[in-house]
Amino acid sequence: MQIPFLDMKAPYLELKNELDMTYQRVMESGWYVLGKEVEAFEQEFAQYCDVKHCIGVGNGLDALFLILKAWGIGEGDEVIVPTNTYIATWLAVTYTGAKVVPVEPDERTYNIDPNKIEVAITEKTKAIIAVHLYGQPADMPAINEIGKRYHIKVLEDAAQAHGATCYGKRVGGLGDAAGISMYPGKNLGAFGDAGVVTTNDDETADAVRVLRNYGSRVKYHNEVVGHNSRLDELQAALLRVKLRHLDEWNQRRMEVAQRYLYELGDCKEILLPYVPEWAEPVWHLFVIRSQKRDELQKKLTQHGIGSLIHYPIPPHLSGAYKEYGWVKGYYPIAERMANEVLSLPVGPHMKDQAKHVIEKIVYSVGEGI
Ligand SMILES: *Cc1c(COP(=O)(O)O)cnc(C)c1O
Repeated sequence: MQIPFLDMKAPYLELKNELDMTYQRVMESGWYVLGKEVEAFEQEFAQYCDVKHCIGVGNGLDALFLILKAWGIGEGDEVIVPTNTYIATWLAVTYTGAKVVPVEPDERTYNIDPNKIEVAITEKTKAIIAVHLYGQPADMPAINEIGKRYHIKVLEDAAQAHGATCYGKRVGGLGDAAGISMYPGKNLGAFGDAGVVTTNDDETADAVRVLRNYGSRVKYHNEVVGHNSRLDELQAALLRVKLRHLDEWNQRRMEVAQRYLYELGDCKEILLPYVPEWAEPVWHLFVIRSQKRDELQKKLTQHGIGSLIHYPIPPHLSGAYKEYGWVKGYYPIAERMANEVLSLPVGPHMKDQAKHVIEKIVYSVGEGI
C-alpha cells in the first residue's frame, strides 16, 4: 500500500463537476483579475473568519508583507517572529527592511511562547507575528495583552490554520490583522498561488487594498509605491467552491488526528502533539517528535508511507539569514525540533490509511525502530 504524504489531486476529484463548471463560468466571463469572483470570495471568507475585511492577494508571503508595509514598518524597525516557523514569516519582515527578532516556542505547543516575548521587545519593536503553526492556534489573548501594553501591533500568520479556533473564536480576526496563504497544500488551498489579508481595522484594510494594486484606488492614479499582488478571478471562484467544504474537510482531518492521538498514545519513543483546552486545531500537519526520527522516517518510507519534516533547517540557520551571524546553539528549542519532528500523513482524503500508518509505527517502535 502506498500512502502519499498528501493527496493533492483528491480535492479536485471530489468536487470535479462543480469545479469544472466554475472554471467554464470564469473563462467565459472574459474578466480575469480583480472582479466579481474576488469580491464574492472576499466577503464569504470574511464571514467565515467572522472578521470585517478580507482582501485577496497573490500569496501568503505577500499577505504578511503587505500588512507590515501598510503599518509603515521598514528600515530601523524590529519585528518579533517565532524561531519555529516556515521561513516565509521571516521573509515578509526582511522584505520591508526591518530586522527580525526571533523568539523561541513553548515546548509543548510549538507556537511562540508569550512568556519569552517581553524580553525581546525594544524601543524599535513595531510588531509581533504570531504563527498558528501546524494548524494549532497561538495563545492570542496573552500575545494581544503584550501588544496592547507596549503599543505594538499583533499580526497573525494563519497560513496553516484556516478555521482553527482560540477560546472559541476563529483565527484571522484575533490580532490587528492576519496574513493567510491559500497555497494548494493548505487546508483551504487554491489551484495555484493565492492568499488573503483579513482584519477588523478599516485603515489597514484600505492601505492593503491600495498596496496590492500598484498603489492605486483609481486606475492610473498611483498614490504610493505599490505592488502587484492580486488574487485572480479563477482562483477566487475555485476557492469559493472549496470554502463550502472547508469545515467538513477539517472535520475529516480531525478524525485522522484523533485516531493517531488515541492509537499512538502508548507508543514509547514518540511524543504526540499537545492541544491546550482552549484550542481547536485544524490539523494542517500532524507533527510527532522522536529522538530516532531519521530511522523512523526511513522505516515509513520502506513501507510506502510518505512523511515530511516541518522544518529541517530553522530560519536562523538558513543561508538567507547568514548575515545575522547566528550559529548552532543560538535557538536550541527550534534546533531540537528541526532534529526531532516528523509530520505524518493527514488530510481530508485519507479514508482508512491512518490505520496502516499506525500499525507500521507501532511495529517499528516495538522493534526498536
Ligand atoms: C505557506 C506558509 C506561508 C507562505 O504562503 P505562500 O502562499 O506560500 O506564500 C507563510 N507562513 C506559513 C506559516 C506558511 O505555512
